[in-house]
Amino acid sequence: MPVVNSADSHVLEPKMLWQERMPARLRERAIRPVREGDLEIVYADGIAIRRNRVDSTGKVRAPGFAKPAERLQDLEQEQIWAELLFPSLGLWIPMCTDPELAAAMSRVYNDWLFETFMTVSPRFIGTAVIPTLEIETAVEEIGRVKDLGYQAVNLPCTPPAHRPYNSREYDPIWGALEEARLRLCFHVGTGADPIVARGDGGAVINYVETFFPAQRLVAHLVASGALDRYPELQVMVVEGGASWIPSLMERMDEGYRQHGMWAKPKLSAMPSEIMRRQVHATFQHDRALMATLEFTGSKMLMWGSDYPHFEGTWPNSQAEIEKIFGGSDPVVRAEITGQNMADLFHLPDPPTSCRSDSEQAITVSKDEGPQ
Ligand code: MN
Repeated sequence: MPVVNSADSHVLEPKMLWQERMPARLRERAIRPVREGDLEIVYADGIAIRRNRVDSTGKVRAPGFAKPAERLQDLEQEQIWAELLFPSLGLWIPMCTDPELAAAMSRVYNDWLFETFMTVSPRFIGTAVIPTLEIETAVEEIGRVKDLGYQAVNLPCTPPAHRPYNSREYDPIWGALEEARLRLCFHVGTGADPIVARGDGGAVINYVETFFPAQRLVAHLVASGALDRYPELQVMVVEGGASWIPSLMERMDEGYRQHGMWAKPKLSAMPSEIMRRQVHATFQHDRALMATLEFTGSKMLMWGSDYPHFEGTWPNSQAEIEKIFGGSDPVVRAEITGQNMADLFHLPDPPTSCRSDSEQAITVSKDEGPQ
């Protein structure tokens, strides 16, 4: 059972994180999860995101979802070594439309993640939340988190309405990230209300909807020449699966070729080549990616557990990996399930067996937190 790295994992923030750490005048509008009857409601800047509570589904939450020491024990059981950590509640920060509030919440989250996880083990690779409503504020926070020791940031998949991702207004952000050598992540389901449909089919429709903005943003970054202007920038689309990549490559190449007379700016290479050079994607369960390797190659692809979320692979990560890679080329398997992430984040090779750093016994926390 080879040890793997997860390029998509989540922390679950304390429910009162922002209330406890925000300036009093912003506290009221900061993210706050509340349970009302069968609903779990997340309030953020006056917006309410309502979802059915998950307790009734009978799903069991991973024991280590809340605390780093218990988490390392879950990782031992799963034989996962390093994890790229994303927020849970903090995924909603881009829903806030007040730049001051979004920036303050981002700082609180980034400080908390650093203190609580990144200082505990080098196996926890944090992604900082960067507020994008104001470019200058974003660049400032990029500098701050770089100094803290971050290697990656997360920006919303759906950008603010007034500034799509093909805009050159983002250049200071791309430039700051490239210079700091921070990886640019886009976790699906960020920046827009993820609940597009209710009623029949809602759960599946909404799950599918999360990966369209990811494809859109890749098209914007590639076709606009942003990735050409910042050729060292490495982009990760997180939790959107991977087998859509060849389809987007073909569509973009077709557009660039067949509509070449209108295409501007001219690019350094075909869109598919730029994608192979600078875009990566994480998946949990996407079996079709093995059939599309001839278009993507293995270097773009990274497995992620999505621990501890319910759409993830805990507690069967190794079995899920085996379903995709059983019988396949062991080099390809090793690259996609560990080496590619190690290369991108300058991690040492995973050990042959993965042990928790802590002897502390597993204790299931009473605080269930949000998904
Ligand atoms: Mn995820």
